[in-house]
Amino acid sequence: MPTSPALALSAVALRKSYGDKLVLDGIDLSIPQGTVFALLGPNGAGKTTTVQILSTLIAPSDGESRVAGHLLGREDEAIRSAIGVTGQFSAVDNLLTGEENLILMANLHHLSRREGRRRATELLQRFDLTEAGRKTVATYSGGMRRRLDLAMTLVGDPRIIFLDEPTTGLDPRSRRSMWEMIRELVADGVTIFLTTQYLEEADQLADRIAVLDGGRIVAEGTAEELKRLIPGGHIRLRFHEAHQLAFAAQQLGPVTTDPEALTLDIPSDGSIPALRSVLDRLDGAALDAAALTVHTPDLDDVFLTLTGNGNKPGAGSAQATVPTQTKESVR
Ligand code: ADP
Repeated sequence: MPTSPALALSAVALRKSYGDKLVLDGIDLSIPQGTVFALLGPNGAGKTTTVQILSTLIAPSDGESRVAGHLLGREDEAIRSAIGVTGQFSAVDNLLTGEENLILMANLHHLSRREGRRRATELLQRFDLTEAGRKTVATYSGGMRRRLDLAMTLVGDPRIIFLDEPTTGLDPRSRRSMWEMIRELVADGVTIFLTTQYLEEADQLADRIAVLDGGRIVAEGTAEELKRLIPGGHIRLRFHEAHQLAFAAQQLGPVTTDPEALTLDIPSDGSIPALRSVLDRLDGAALDAAALTVHTPDLDDVFLTLTGNGNKPGAGSAQATVPTQTKESVR
């Protein structure tokens, strides 16, 4: 029998209430080592609470969790030495330089003076902060601050990193460079537990995504699996001539057509049999299409459908605009 991969993190029936307010209503998690797990959800869903519990900052009301093999609530000290947390609980001190912040962190981890300096230099270099390392953090841009935050987390050489909204408020270029750095960590075997408001971020980085809504996981899977859960996919055909479009619409109905773009959309799950059937019908009608593209729903569609509250994460912020992604295959 194949052995299942070692788990970096597991949780069974995790619950948290504050007084009579139930915030987490029985969460199950199972995250293999060296993977990226994304917890996605609207504001107030319980993402931060989940991270706070799993990183030993607050105690759950019920449920059993293991982090890096250690039992939460019993072996918290061992958990804390295996994990790193960046984001909302950032330890970055604005009045110190980047280098001083890193050295302070090295002291907290009981590294020798020399080792601390060596580590700081290495991390400043790795995160493209060598020059900035001599300036106070107060002068840093958002992207530099995030990179320093992540660098500080790495001083302790954690095996599991909780990244709480690592790119919120960053411009697209800084966001991409952060994604690259996260991918490098994963390539080194680190496990990432990511919370994000950005569907594109989950799509780009995560091996598995859980959608949290009202303290419950309403769906879990790969980005592709989640996209398949909901309708909205279609096959789009483009034609050279208007008369071809009109004839195709007759032959292939029910479809929606766009006479200006000379395209028509056929509702479809984008599977190979569905594709083959469309191609066969085109052949049967002796029609030649200029292009064929397969469109699957994006995570935006998934999120809006599953959480059902129209509360798109990050709604109201210009940063939240996620470009519509289409998986295309052009013939
Ligand atoms: P998210 O990170 O997904 O936005 P949170 O985990 O911060 O969600 O919060 C989930 C819910 O728990 C929210 O309704 C929030 O108001 C509530 N909550 C969080 N912390 C506390 C607390 N200390 N006391 C009472 N309610 C809290």
